[in-house]
Order: sequence, then C-alpha cells, then structure tokens
Amino acid sequence: LQRRQSTVIELSDFQLLRTLGTGSFGRVRLCRSIHNNRYYAVKIMNKAELFYLKQMRHTNSERQTLMQIVHPFIVNLWGTFQDTNYLYMVMDFIPGGELFSMLKSKNCLKPHEAKFYAAETLLTLGYLHSCNIVYRDLKPENILLDREGHIKLTDFGFAKRVPDRTYTICGTADYLAPEVIRSNGYNKTADYWAFGIFIFEMMAGYTPFQDEDTLRGYEKILRCNIKYPLQFDKQVRDLLMRLLTTNISSRLGSRARGCLDIMEHPWFATVDFELLAHRKIQPPYIPKFKEGGKEDDTSCYDVYDE
Ligand code: AMP
Repeated sequence: LQRRQSTVIELSDFQLLRTLGTGSFGRVRLCRSIHNNRYYAVKIMNKAELFYLKQMRHTNSERQTLMQIVHPFIVNLWGTFQDTNYLYMVMDFIPGGELFSMLKSKNCLKPHEAKFYAAETLLTLGYLHSCNIVYRDLKPENILLDREGHIKLTDFGFAKRVPDRTYTICGTADYLAPEVIRSNGYNKTADYWAFGIFIFEMMAGYTPFQDEDTLRGYEKILRCNIKYPLQFDKQVRDLLMRLLTTNISSRLGSRARGCLDIMEHPWFATVDFELLAHRKIQPPYIPKFKEGGKEDDTSCYDVYDE
C-alpha cells in the first residue's frame, strides 16, 4: 500500500478566463486547468466583503453542502481553496447558460417546455429534501443548462441542512414564501412555494407578486391574491393554487410524502419521472453554440466587464 498525498489546489493551477456571471457575493469565471487542460467555472468571493455582509457562515455551508452531494441535475464541485483575500470554488463549467437568459429571450415558455424544467427541478428539490437540505433560492438565474439542455442547479449559498425548522430570512424577494417573510420559522415547504413562483414565471414571463418596491412586494405575497393569466389551463392553475398557499400545512409537498404528492398532481401526469431521472427525456431546447461547439464556448453567457 502506497501513502497518498492529499491534493492541494491553488490559483496558479488555473488560467483565469472570462467572467460567466456575477452573484450577490462574487463572480464566476471560466478557467482552464494547467494540468489537464480542462475547463472549469471558478466562483471567486472576496473574504472582506463576505465578512462585511455577514455571509461567512453561508459560504461555508455552501461548500460543505456541495461537497456532500452528487446528483445529475446539480453542478459538481471539484474543490475549494483560499488565499489571503479570496475564497475559490472550482465547479464544472456548464456551457448552456442560465435558464433565465433563455426565458428572457423567449418572453415565456410553452406549457410542455415549462413542465420539462419544472419536472427536472422537482426531482432535484426532492433529492435535496431527502438529504434534509433546504435550497432557499430557487429561481431561473440559478438553473443552468448543460450541453444537451438538461438542468444543473447552481448557487448553494443559501442552502442549509434543516431537519426541523429555520428562521433566517434569505432568498430573492419575488420568490420568498410568506412564512419566510413573517420569520416565525419555516422548512423545506418554502422551496415548494418558490417552485410555484418558478412555474408561474416560466409560463407567464413575470412573477405573480413582483413590485418595484420590495416592501410592497412582500405585502402582496402575504395577501396572496394571484391573478392567473388567461392562457393558464385548469390543471396548472390547480397546481399553483395548491403550491402558492399561505397555509403551510395544506401546501402541496408539505406532508411526509414530500415531492411525491406534487409529482402525482394531474399537471405532471404526462411526465415519466423514472425516465426523466435518467436524463432520458429529450429537453425542449438545445443550447446553441458556435460552429464546432468547442469545450470553452461561452456564447450562451452574457458579457461582463472584467
Ligand atoms: P452564483 O454566484 O453561484 O449565483 O453564480 C453567478 C452566475 O455565474 C450564475 O448565475 C451563472 O451565470 C454563472 N455560473 C455559476 N456557476 C456556473 C457554472 N458552474 N458554470 C457556468 N456558469 C456558472
């Protein structure tokens, strides 16, 4: 038996290339390993800024959570390292861009398209919940598309291991569940509220409670008075009414069976979740790359100032 050296990675192992996106707590850049020449996405976070924004705990929990989970619809984290000023997280580079950009370019999706992304997302949330992890920041900006068009969930900055309940208000204004705003404790069911907002946004092109004024937006969420666009059919309205309810105990997905109750809703009757879990359902949209589709093609990502 040979002694094994633990591998230590550092910034000089990578050639840093263009910015792929910016999050609340840092930016993500394409990079290339000088050892195997493969491309990765590295999330770079400024320690002083994280400390100032009181996000050290969340960042640590993102690293721990992502290190523990392996799932076909979740971005793979290869490793983390730090230097004096920055923390780095090295992930697979997911070339298809954000579902958000696709949604923006199409304005809204057709029901069968929205259903595909909703179903892959539901499987992923179900998996996280089975590990007692609440995701807490579901939105199209955090869903990336791989080369074939399947989803990859990224940004675990707010994800947390919650066997019982938790209290921190975090997430994105439009997607916050009423119980999160009221801050008297919430659990994984808050992800299913966000899941309802997500389906609504994909199909309508806007979120149901959006408001320029964040506080007014929160009031709308608490009042929970939803106007469904005419093009929403009876089944999807029924599903959304069951997800977007302020009463947590009657919210679909809140019972012990969790996401299974949502999968069995008639709107999902046309989805074969077994095939879906094996990536065997053809995605409705295949990301477009430049001719040749090279490994480092970033044409699906917006251009940022470096
Ligand atoms: P985050 O700070 O994790 O929300 O990431 C900010 C943005 O960076 C995302 O919205 C994506 O546009 C981009 N991004 C994050 N992770 C990856 C990845 N693994 N591959 C490609 N782009 C990514």
